Amino acid sequence: MLKGFDESWVAAGNENTATYTKISPGHYVFIVNATNTAGEWSPNIKTLNVIIEPPFWQTWWAYCIYGAALTFLIWGYIQYRISQVRLHQEVIMKERETAQLKAVDELKSRFFSNITHEFRTPLTLILTPAQRLKSTLEKPNQHRWLAAIERNTYHLLRLINQLLDLSKLESSSIVIHELQGDIVETTNRIVQTFREEAESKGISFMVSNELSSSGYWFDADKLEQIVGNLVANALKFTTQGSIAITLSAEHSSSNKKEIEQDKKTTGVFITINDTGIGIPPEQLPYIFNRFYQVEDNTLGKSGYTQPQGSGIGLSLVKELVDLQKGNIIVESPGIENWQTTFTVWLPYRSANDINLSEENNNSSLAETVSLSPAGFNVSIPEPSEGENNLSVLLVEDNAELAYFIADSLPGIYKITQAGNGKEGLEKAVSIMPDLVISDVLMPVMNGYEFCRELKTDDRTSHIPVIMLTAKASFDNRMEGLTLGADDYLTKPFHVQELQLRVANLLDRQQRMREKLQKEISRADTANSSPAEESAGNIFIKKIYELAEEKLDDTSFGVQELATEINMSRASLHRKLKSLTGLAAGDIIRNYRLKRAALFLKEGFNSSETAYKTGFDSPAYFSKCFKDFYGVTPLEFVQKNR
Ligand code: ADP
Repeated sequence: MLKGFDESWVAAGNENTATYTKISPGHYVFIVNATNTAGEWSPNIKTLNVIIEPPFWQTWWAYCIYGAALTFLIWGYIQYRISQVRLHQEVIMKERETAQLKAVDELKSRFFSNITHEFRTPLTLILTPAQRLKSTLEKPNQHRWLAAIERNTYHLLRLINQLLDLSKLESSSIVIHELQGDIVETTNRIVQTFREEAESKGISFMVSNELSSSGYWFDADKLEQIVGNLVANALKFTTQGSIAITLSAEHSSSNKKEIEQDKKTTGVFITINDTGIGIPPEQLPYIFNRFYQVEDNTLGKSGYTQPQGSGIGLSLVKELVDLQKGNIIVESPGIENWQTTFTVWLPYRSANDINLSEENNNSSLAETVSLSPAGFNVSIPEPSEGENNLSVLLVEDNAELAYFIADSLPGIYKITQAGNGKEGLEKAVSIMPDLVISDVLMPVMNGYEFCRELKTDDRTSHIPVIMLTAKASFDNRMEGLTLGADDYLTKPFHVQELQLRVANLLDRQQRMREKLQKEISRADTANSSPAEESAGNIFIKKIYELAEEKLDDTSFGVQELATEINMSRASLHRKLKSLTGLAAGDIIRNYRLKRAALFLKEGFNSSETAYKTGFDSPAYFSKCFKDFYGVTPLEFVQKNR
């Protein structure tokens, strides 16, 4: 018997061996007893200790290793989960942080754009009267003073624009809008604004063009900022000598390697060279840093005091150049030669490179960059006698500016004012003006909101709107235009420009009214339904559709039409008068008579036609028909047989 394995004695018979297999590890005692020949069990029982060792994977140290491995795995998993949670939290934190930064940026941008707007209104109020004063002054001295007022106002304006642009650049909200235009003309226009100042300082001013053709794709706003800043600096730091601006397809400077390192064979090089105070060589690397100003300009020409500045201009120029993937370098040889040369390379594409179809596609977008030079006399069309009942609604919260705008417009316009968008809407509905001029930033309801409401309301959607935007940046203009504004005017604006835009829009409105009136009142004998022809105006089309639906309904009149299109009778009347110059009743009657002509042509007789087109009696129908077509229905049938 193997104690620990067998439960009782195992009779082995005559065998003197015992075989055990599959014994688990452990301590056993092997006990053997035998009988003598007589069959008696011996009292001497033999015992043998048997120890079966476990295999190595079941040893205590193996279990220790298993335990350690398991602990390690659990620990690893916990660490992994912790790091995952941490990572997730970090991502959330980062996202939150980015969102916060973005919100702050937006806030800053909005703040800046509000501030610019706030600045622009008083600036407009300086410039507008100054411009009006110009025509009344006679003494040259007075003109000079006035020129100083204008010049400095524009300078202030430039600074404000720079601040706004810097904040926009920071929040990466500046985008490039390349349009096809004449780069030489644009440059000349930019430079033109400095000419007077240069002349007064006795500095000669030259613009030379070495480009073979001047048509390029470029962003005029950004070019204006870049060239404007560089020329303003050149003028500021030059007391005598000359300033030369060169446009060229090749780099003319001696310091070619910096710009030409990546073989810039295309694009435009703009060089601005002045004979001013120069910049010390050791300061050159820093001048594009924000707020950096060359402090102790010991190299500078003697007797020259550093003019004041903000240190923003060049950093803005650099960022704008970088944004357009261009390059800018500055050279100033110092003592031997008092000069500063800024060379800007911009990767503008020549307009000739773009194939014709693309050009055509974009032509509707192409901006006219050629503006009339300052002082150019434009004749503003005088409103004719027939227009003396034209009314303009002016929505502006600044009473002083509103006064100036009203005062700048020809006296025969009837001008109504509103202090905010909400008030503007109410007045627009009640007086149904021929034109609306609206500011953007206003309390209660701003200009964009106002414009959207005005353009989506059936009663007022036909009224043209001029928006007074703070800055004529592409985004601002687009925002106004997408909301349905018909034109925009940038503050500060020229009185002439305001007058011209108002006159043009009113003229367009007048022509549209005449065209619609003619179309509705035309006694034509076309074969198609008039509803199909009225596609020119959605509102008239809608009326025609309703009139068609109720063609044989004698009770369908102006009141029913107004109810159908959800307008009061008075609003409908005002809208139709302003849109077509006709009363609603006339429009319905004319439509019915046009349809009557078609029925007559189809072979219906006069009284059948009268009932089919909703006339109470054939006699009344005959009378109206004769008034409209000049012939009775019978004569009409005979003529068209
Ligand atoms: P600001 O002119 O407002 O001080 P900018 O960023 O335009 O700021 O210019 C930075 C500095 O670079 C100026 O203060 C001036 O010292 C130097 N600088 C710029 N342009 C010229 C120039 N044409 N001639 C001499 N120094 C210049």
